[in-house]
Amino acid sequence: MAVNQALLREAQATGPTKVPVARPRLPSAEAVFPYLQRIDDAGWYSNFGPLLTEFEARLAGRFPAGTEVVTVTNATQALTLTLMAMNLPVGGYVVMPAWTFVATAHAVVQAGLKPWFADVDPDSWMLRPEAVTGLAADIRAQVVAVIPVSAFGAAGDLAAWRAFRDETGVPVLVDAAAAFDTLDDADLPAVVSLHATKVLGIGEGGFLATRDAALALRVRQLTTFGFQGGRESHVAATNAKLSEYPAAVGLASLDAWPADRFRFLRAAQQLRISLIGRPEVQFQNGWGADWVTSVCAVGLPDGMAAPVADALHQQGIDTRQWWGAGCHTSPAFADCARGDLRHTDRLAGSVIGLPFSIDLSAAETGRITDALQQALAGL
Ligand SMILES: *Cc1c(COP(=O)(O)O)cnc(C)c1O
Repeated sequence: MAVNQALLREAQATGPTKVPVARPRLPSAEAVFPYLQRIDDAGWYSNFGPLLTEFEARLAGRFPAGTEVVTVTNATQALTLTLMAMNLPVGGYVVMPAWTFVATAHAVVQAGLKPWFADVDPDSWMLRPEAVTGLAADIRAQVVAVIPVSAFGAAGDLAAWRAFRDETGVPVLVDAAAAFDTLDDADLPAVVSLHATKVLGIGEGGFLATRDAALALRVRQLTTFGFQGGRESHVAATNAKLSEYPAAVGLASLDAWPADRFRFLRAAQQLRISLIGRPEVQFQNGWGADWVTSVCAVGLPDGMAAPVADALHQQGIDTRQWWGAGCHTSPAFADCARGDLRHTDRLAGSVIGLPFSIDLSAAETGRITDALQQALAGL
C-alpha cells in the first residue's frame, strides 16, 4: 500500500499534476494515538492537564534553564496577550517591519496600540535597531515597544536587539512565529507559531518563551479568564488556552522533530543543489544548511516575482507571496503610520515562495528548478 502510494505520487509529480506551494504533514493518527489514550485514562481534557504541562516543559527544554513557556491558542493571540501583559501606554506606537505577515499588525491593534511600519534591512529582510534609533525625535518619543520579525524563520540579530533594549529601555517582543528551529534564546520575549503550515505544527497553536517569569505569569493569566489559582478574575482577560488534544499532537510532533528536521534539511539541500550556478536565485542566509523552516522564500532580481510566478503557474507549479506586498499595503492598515519603505517595496516585487515540503520529491524539485531556470532565461 505504502509502495503504491509512493509510486502514484511520483507518477503524479512527473505528470501534469500541480506542485503545491506547501504540503503540511502533521503527526499521523498512529503517532498521536498513545497520547490520546493517556487523555482517556486521565479523564482530564483541558485546564492545564498533564499533557499540556509536559508539552510546555518539553518546549521550555529547548531553551536555556530559567525559560518559561506559555502556550496560547495561536501565535497571533500570543503576541496580542504578551503586548497586553507588558502594560504599555495605550495608543503608543509599536515599531514593526512592514515586511511581515499581517498577524503582527493585527496583534498590535488588538492590544490597543498603533503599528508604526519601518523598513527592513535589504539583505536579511529583517528590522534592525537603527530603524528605531534613527526615527525623528517626536516619533521616537511615542514608541512604546518594538516587534522585530524573524523573516520566514531566520534567526535575526537578537544580540543587537538585546543591546537596543538594554540601552534604550524600550521593550522588545520578537515575532518568531516561523522560527521554531532557530529560536534558542528567550532573553527577549518571543512568540512562536505552531500552525499547521509552520515547521512544527499542531494545527492551531503558539507559545510565548521568556525568561521574565512575571511576564509569563501575566500572559498565562490573560489566557485563562484572569484567574490566578482561584476563581476570581484579577484582570480583564480572555480564554486562549490549549486543551489536552492539541497538546497530544504537540507531543507527537516533538517526538518526530529530530527526524523531521533532517528531512526538511534534505529537501532544502536538494533544492539548493539543483539551483547551484543560479546566483540570481537568492536563498536566505543559511536556509537548509544551518536552519530549517517550512517555506522556501527566495529573492529574485528586482520586479521578477510576478513574471516568474506567472511562468511557474503555467507549468502547474504553485508559488506564494507569503507576505503579499507587505503588511502596510493591506486595507486594514492603510491608515497606519510608516517611514520610507523602499526595501520592503523592492522585496514585495522580488521575493517569492517556491513550493517546499518535508516530502518534496526529486521529481518535484526537478520540475521547480527547470521551470525556474526557463523563466529566468526567458525574462
Ligand atoms: C504565521 C505567522 C504568524 C501567525 O501565527 P498564527 O499561529 O497563525 O496566529 C504571525 N507572524 C508571522 C511572522 C507568521 O509567519
